[in-house]
Amino acid sequence: MIQLIEDNRTAPLCPHCEKPLKTVSCQRIKSSLGVRFLYFCGQCRKTLGVSHRKGFWMG
Ligand SMILES: [Zn+2]
Repeated sequence: MIQLIEDNRTAPLCPHCEKPLKTVSCQRIKSSLGVRFLYFCGQCRKTLGVSHRKGFWMG
């Protein structure tokens, strides 16, 4: 069983530019499956991931 620990003391690193993630940018994508969000590094603009939920407020 893996335990999830909230850790705000260290900044996560971007896997692409390996700089600490200070900001994560997001863009709204409209698809046939609903609205999704694409997250990308604020420094190198490479994509970190896409949300699989319909939005922040739903699901
Ligand atoms: Zn980056």
